Amino acid sequence: MKMLEFKLLAAGYCTAKESIAKVSGAKKNIRFYATYALIKHPEIGYILFDTGYSQEFFKATNKFPLSLYAKATKVYLQKHETAKETLIQLGVPHDQIKYIIISHFHGDHIGGLKDFPNAKYICSKSAWEEVKGSKGFGALFKGFLPSQIPSDFESRLQFIENSSLGKMDPDLGKINDLFGDGSVWTCPLEGHAKGQFGILFKTKTQNVFLIADAAWLKDNYENLDLPNSMVRLFFHSWKNFKESLMRIHLYHKSNPDTLIIPCHCEKTYLEIRQKQKDENI
Ligand SMILES: [Zn+2]
Repeated sequence: MKMLEFKLLAAGYCTAKESIAKVSGAKKNIRFYATYALIKHPEIGYILFDTGYSQEFFKATNKFPLSLYAKATKVYLQKHETAKETLIQLGVPHDQIKYIIISHFHGDHIGGLKDFPNAKYICSKSAWEEVKGSKGFGALFKGFLPSQIPSDFESRLQFIENSSLGKMDPDLGKINDLFGDGSVWTCPLEGHAKGQFGILFKTKTQNVFLIADAAWLKDNYENLDLPNSMVRLFFHSWKNFKESLMRIHLYHKSNPDTLIIPCHCEKTYLEIRQKQKDENI
């Protein structure tokens, strides 16, 4: 495996009751950070895994019925907190992003797609086919905000299904070699949204597994403390969600040193942010 560099960042957050995210949770509001990862590949250059929110979210939700999305999840985002602005502050201009890997098409993951003009997009074919052409209530029920998609999206798009090189992981099942060089492996994580996947890669110090929304909190996959079952209304398949979560649970038991990152877990995000600050990453 090639060694990559990686930094976990967040572009805004929304709040919801902890008891929604896990059955044992309190009825207090917690933050769901919209995290994304900046990854540096030694040959390819900079890659993003998701983008978090951007100001596009507010534009995309200013009319009925998509306004219901913004009502259901109150979003907090300062102008300087978008992926584009944060990367500029880090010395990574937006035109240097070569790929954006899209775990799934929920509005809190794809807010920044329009901000990176030189990026190619990578997603699963089934995820794109599920949302492509959706609008109005159809889009709302899929958590999809069509205006966040750039007009030239399809001409810049490639599907993970096209990378045929794969291997079997004893807990996760088949994982695929995204760039054909063993640096980034895609892992299907169905259930939360159609065609969702995560990625595995290695840095100098550890193995990393970005699992998107296959779990919301660490407790979901560590202790199989599931989200409140009312969320199944918004999930593509509750059965597949539980199956994906079980695979992550088993993988975690077999690989306790791998850093598993659920996209919205506040605890995980704050711990990693602190560690990255300490190590000056
Ligand atoms: Zn999602």
